[in-house]
Parts: sequence; structure tokens; C-alpha cells
Amino acid sequence: MIRFDGDSRTLSLSVRDLADDLDYRFSGPAPVSLKRRAEMGRVAHEDHQGAREEQIKSYRRERSLRYETTISGWRVVVQGRIDGIYTDEAGQTVIEEVKTIVGTEAELAAAGPETFPHYSAQLQLYRYLLEEGSSGLDFAGDGAPEIALHLFLIALPSKAERTVVLGYDAAAMRELVERRLGEVVAAYEEEQAVAAQRRALRARLVFPHDEQRPQQQEVVAAIEEALAGPGQALISAPPGIGKTAATLYPALRRAYELGGRVFVATSKTTQQQIFAETVRAMAARGAPVRAVVLTAKEKACLNERVHCHEDACPYAADYGRKIVESGALERLSKLPMADAAAIRAEGEAHTFCPFEAALDLSDVVDVVIGDYNYVFDPGAALKRMFVERSPEDVVLVVDEAHNLYERARGYYSPALQRETLRKLEQALVGRTHAVERRVRGLLRQLLAYLDQIQRGEAPAAPEPEPEPEPQQDNLLLFDDPDAAKAPPKKKRGRTSGRLGVYRPPPSALPPPAQPQQQEPAAPPPPRRELPPEREVSVDGELLAALRDELNELAVAWFAEGRARTGDEIDPVVATSRLVSRFANVLELEGKSEDMSVLWRDARGGVLKLLCKDPSRQLGRRSAACGGAVAVSATLEPLEFYRDVLGLCPDALLKAFPSPFDRARRKVVVLDLPSTKYHARERDLPIVEDAVRAVVAAHPGNYLVCCPSFAYLERLAPLLDELPGFQVLRQERYMAPDQRAEVLTRLREGPERGLPPVVLIVVQGGIFTEGVDYAGDACVGAIVVGPALPQLNYERTLIQQHYEERYGRGFEYAFVYPGMNKVIQSAGRVIRTPSDRGVVVLVGMRFATPRYSSLFPRDWYERHPRELVCLDPYGELSAFWQQAQASQEG
Ligand code: SF4
Repeated sequence: MIRFDGDSRTLSLSVRDLADDLDYRFSGPAPVSLKRRAEMGRVAHEDHQGAREEQIKSYRRERSLRYETTISGWRVVVQGRIDGIYTDEAGQTVIEEVKTIVGTEAELAAAGPETFPHYSAQLQLYRYLLEEGSSGLDFAGDGAPEIALHLFLIALPSKAERTVVLGYDAAAMRELVERRLGEVVAAYEEEQAVAAQRRALRARLVFPHDEQRPQQQEVVAAIEEALAGPGQALISAPPGIGKTAATLYPALRRAYELGGRVFVATSKTTQQQIFAETVRAMAARGAPVRAVVLTAKEKACLNERVHCHEDACPYAADYGRKIVESGALERLSKLPMADAAAIRAEGEAHTFCPFEAALDLSDVVDVVIGDYNYVFDPGAALKRMFVERSPEDVVLVVDEAHNLYERARGYYSPALQRETLRKLEQALVGRTHAVERRVRGLLRQLLAYLDQIQRGEAPAAPEPEPEPEPQQDNLLLFDDPDAAKAPPKKKRGRTSGRLGVYRPPPSALPPPAQPQQQEPAAPPPPRRELPPEREVSVDGELLAALRDELNELAVAWFAEGRARTGDEIDPVVATSRLVSRFANVLELEGKSEDMSVLWRDARGGVLKLLCKDPSRQLGRRSAACGGAVAVSATLEPLEFYRDVLGLCPDALLKAFPSPFDRARRKVVVLDLPSTKYHARERDLPIVEDAVRAVVAAHPGNYLVCCPSFAYLERLAPLLDELPGFQVLRQERYMAPDQRAEVLTRLREGPERGLPPVVLIVVQGGIFTEGVDYAGDACVGAIVVGPALPQLNYERTLIQQHYEERYGRGFEYAFVYPGMNKVIQSAGRVIRTPSDRGVVVLVGMRFATPRYSSLFPRDWYERHPRELVCLDPYGELSAFWQQAQASQEG
């Protein structure tokens, strides 16, 4: 990694940094992750070095090199580690650099010095730097030995070897060193100039609107104070406060102060549009701000199918030259908002990839807007911002932060589903290639291992070693650019690293399947005493060994050019990726107390890693940033969200009340029906009556917000006939245009004189979060029961975890997430100061302190009990009559 120390004006970098300025983005889909690829390279290196030590007495491995010079007033320290140096039989000194490549033996045989120019440059640089800079070593004096440069290539996975002897051009190396150092220093100084410019521009940053509403001022002040102090804030700001502007403005001011940028992480594209509009509004008022929206690769791609290889995609070919020479990057970087349409138009006009262009823009703009994945997903994080550099000048804004917790749990909860594995195995039946046969064999062994787990007969995992290796940063879980440089790890005992000679211990894996056996036997029934879902112990070493061999097979598959990409599912690649993800998370995270390994008999059997609490991982990312602000309309109890989002203990926690006139909203609790599971069927008619009474009190569009789809499907038939209303319902899957059609019906119906709509939806779904129903689009939300997470084995484990950690397991696992959905649903009704509406909470639980204590404080005068209503028709009719009267008055 290139490092600048401004205080001592020292630049530190590696020989590899000097040699390698190539762009690897369009080299096609990788057979395995960078991290795994580096590990495979490391094993091959070590094997070769070990062999050399045995063969050649004078051989010395891993010789350090240090070279110092100055450039533009910077002290430059270049360091490197030469793979091996020895004296050959002719007495000449051989500097040997070992490199692994993914390719066939024929490709290896055809390779020359020009095939891998950066490898050749690295090796020549070793000689140049030794001769120029190693005064203690006699590499340049009169008595200096002849030096030979050997590039030793190992092809993966075959392990075929070849030595390429390189020439040496000292003048070219001098030119390379001077040029690269000049470029590196110039890039840094430009970065510093941009940072200084941002600091200077801070004073010119303007709020996006003419004036700040009173509560907006409070939000701005709170965030500014937090970012200047503990650096983190959790802000609950209900609709109407204008939280987007009130969050972005202070975040950007702080980022400018740091000379850095803001990353806005959202869970939905609709939120991204709101932030984009806010940036535009800032720019329209003269603020010096430029932003980019990162669109998912599949959506941004200009091809029918994503295949990011220079040979396959015209938009990838010669990308670097086209984007610069066309001037597009400069034009886009001057826009206040480089959105998907603007980048796409340039990409089409100049034949470059819009997805990569957006990533390049993220380096130069002030605000980057994108999905949570770009920040928190270990497999998809924006490496250039969060992994390859320290994000200490990045202020992170997490919007609708109540959604992050569940999303993040998913990142760390991979599963091996027996049905999926079985389908992959079946897809390989009859395939004759050695790789396919071997993958099929491994799949059968894995399936047999899952059978053992199901029967409770899997051997116990080995005892952990007394001093386990320290856990790596799991945010680098799958792609660690520095992995190749990491200190060597202890070798695993079970993988030979050679194709086809994987030897699992006989006690661990069942015997491989016989070739003639085409159909796998049905899994034997589990022992009767075993519960259908249970925590199990798995042999992580065994799964890691399986992953390693599958990775090697995938590399072989790619090396022969056989891997299929795009929509087709290649069983070899898919198996390798599936097992890798599981084994990687197990290896890096599995021992933590916030993780469990589960077996579930249902759906053919699933082995799952369960992340019960992702706060460790989330906290690590937020803490690395220059500041972090988590914001949502509903983030209460604040302590709960601070804990589950991994914010620091002294993060500012602040909840703001709704800015709207309470008199314009009527909240009532109908506590008669029970929505508990055992009483649901019995009490459905009571819920039906409640809905009929509420909508009869006043015509208009209503949402009926159910706790689940199962409940919706029971309730909806009872409400088929509602005189005077059109009844619509949310389906389990709705395409974006179907959703838009429903929203248009709600929004335009009143003006067009159409009958009012009762829309039956689920809480926490596409109609109750991230959507506005201003004016008459929705006059009431009938929220049926709190949408508590489903009671199942996983939830019970999550509950236990939080009980042990915070002493409030039921609240953390059920009540708080469930009530968040209730308040989100209720929040759809009043979106502007002129809106009027009713919120009707249906269910006994809402009248109990456990739930009613979580009602927003502005829902009631003195105590939540005052909301309990015995005559909904009467009370709501009175509310609407009064509203009518005040409107006429
Ligand atoms: S246009 Fe599509 S296939 Fe081509 S590089 Fe971009 S994302 Fe990949």
C-alpha cells in the first residue's frame, strides 16, 4: 500500500507499487476471490522455495530490499521482498521472482518477458534498486557478480513450471522509477489540493432550502455537535422535519472540514433519489457540491449480459483511454449530480462502461450515494473507498437505518441447502471432464456429510488450538488486496493443494460415491430424538479443505476457458462459490459468540451459519470512518438501535417529535381482538368489524397494515366487499410497475373522482416504508397487531443472545423490531402540515405497557391508555366532523 506521511514528508511504497500500475478491472470474472487466489499463490510460492532450499545450498528466500531517494522534496522509501537469491554453478547471482498464473501448460510454454510486463518490471527493479541503493551489499562495485534475473512461473492449477530469463535495461528502470514516483507524488498532491479546496469551500456550502425549519436547525446543530465530538450520531426524525437536508448539510460540512467526502448508504433506490434531489437543490443555490449515484452493475450494464472482460465487452475494451480522452470523466465530474442517466449517455456515446465510470467518479466527487452493500457487504464493499485506503476522511450517512440491522445479518448468514447442492450434483451427472467428475465427487461427499449432521453422527469438530490466529477484519472477508503480502500462515494439514489428490480424513467424510451410482440415495431419516432444528458442531477444518479443493478445481476450469458466466449457472463455479462463502464466514467469524451453526430438517435440510448480531462488523466499519450518522423516521428505543448497529457508547442519541399539529391526527387503540397466533382465526371477524367501522366513519383511501402475508391472506377475503370502496391488496411479489400503478391509483383517484381504496398490505413492506401518501392519497392507517418477527428457532437463539448481552432478549429480538414496523406504517398518514388522518391500532397488545410505552410521545396527551377506544365509528366520525368544521371555518 502506498503511504504518505505529511509530517515527515515521507513516501513509503513497495517495489510492486512501482512496477504495477495496470488496471485489472476488466480481466473477466475471477474463478475465486482475490483472497483465495492469493492464498493459492502463497502455497505454491512456499512449495517452490522449500524445494529450492533443498536443491541449492546458497539459496536464500524472502530477502528484504530497501531503497531510498528523494523526489519533489519527499523522502521516498521503497521496500520489497525478493522471493529468492542464490549463486548458480557458473558463479552468477540469480535473483528469482516466483509468480503464479491461471492458465494452461501451453499458455505457460508460450509466455515470454513481454507476456507479464509488470512481473518483468518488478524483477528488473529489484536489480536496479539493489545496484543503486544497497551500499552495504556489493551489487554494483567492480567485484560485483554477474546478476541474472529469473522469472519463475507456476501455472495454476497444474503446477507446471517454467523459468523465463529476463534481460536488463538500467536506463529503462531509471526512467520507470522516476516516472512512477513522479506520478504517485503528483496524484497525492492533487488529492491534497482537492482536500484543501474542500476545506476552503466549506464556508460556501449552503443549505438546500431558503430557510431551515426550526426542527431542522435542531437536527443540524445536533449532528454538527456529534460529528465534532464523539463522531457518531443516531437521529430519529419523523416525517415533516426535512431530515434529508438536515442530515446531508452538516455531514458535508464535516466532510469538507476533513477534506473528504460523504457516503450516503441507503436500503432503497427511492431514498437515493431523495438525496440526489437534495444535492441538486444545494447546487442550485450555489453550493460547490458534486455527487454521483452508484447504480447496481446489472442495471448499469449496457450489454444484454454482464461479462466484464475486455475481449467480451466493447465497453470494457480500452476503457481507461476512452473515458479520459473523450473528456467524459471531466464533464461528469463537474455535474452537481452524475446520475445513472447522465453516465449512461456518456458511456453509450463513447463506448465505455457506465458502471466503472460511476466508480471512478466516486474518487473525485463530494457525495457518493449508493446501497448499503457498498459499505457493509464484505463481498461487495467499495474497495477504493473502504478497503484499499483508510476512510478516515469519509463521513458516513446511513439512511433508514432501522433497515440496516436485518440486512447486515444476512451478509454473515450463509447457508448450504441440501436441495441446491443436490441439483448441482445432478447437473454434473454424465459429465466426463476430470474437473466436473471431481466436483461431483466432492458434492456427493458434502451431501453425505450433511446426512451425517442430520443424523447427529457427524464427527465432532477438532478441539480449537490453544492460540488461534487473530481474526482478520471480516470486512475484507472475500477480497483482500493485501492478502498476498500478509505474513505466511500456518499450512493446513488436509489440503495438498494439488488437483485430484485431496484426502479428507477417513473418519470425517463418508466414502466417495461409486461412479456407477447415478442417483443419490434419499437422505436417511434423522434420529427420532433429534429436534428438527438445532445447533450443531461442524468441522470447520474439513469444510475449509473442501473449499480449497473446489477453489483449485474452479481455477482449473477457468484456466481451460471452460467456465460459463452470465445467466447460465455453471455447476463447477457455482459449487465453488457456494462452499467458499460458507467456509470463509465460518473460518473468520464462526467462533464468535454472536454466531451459531444450525441444522434445519425442513426443505430438504439446510446447514446455516446464523449471525445473531452484526454489531461487531457494522461497528468496525463506522468506527473507521471520519464520522457516522444513522438516521431514520423511527429509531426508538435509541439505545436498541445504537447497540444493534454497533455505534460507539458515547454516540449522540436524539429523537425529535413530529412537527405536525397533533390535532390533525387521531390515534386510537382497539384492544378487543387478539392478534396472537393461537387467537388469530377466532378474532378475525373482530378485526373485520373494526376495519368496516373505521372506513365507514369517513370515505377516503385507507391502508390496512397486516402483521404478515399469512395474516393478510386470511383477512383479505373477509374484506372483499366494502360498499363504496375498491379493495386492493399487496401480493407476495409485485413488480415495480405494479406497485407504481397502485400508488398512482391512490394518489390520483381522489382528484379523478374514483371510489376510495382500501389497500390491504403488510407492515414493513413496499407500501408501508419509503413511500409518501401526501394529501388525500391516504387518510388512515389501520395497523393490525405488531408485526413481531416470526417465532422460530433462529429467533429464539437471537433472543437468547440479546438476553445474555443486554438482559432484554424478548425486547431486542421481537418487540422493538415489530414496533418499528408499526410506527413506520402509522407514519404514512401525515406527510405534510395540511394532511389530516387517523391511525387505528388493532390488537390487545397495543394496550399493554410493553408495546404502548414505545408509542411516539406525541401520539397521546398524558398516558397511552387514553388512546383505547370502545366506539371507533363514533370517535372517528366526531374527529372527521370536527375536521370538516375547522376546514369550513
Ligand atoms: S458494460 Fe456491462 S459487461 Fe461491460 S464492463 Fe460494464 S458492466 Fe461489465
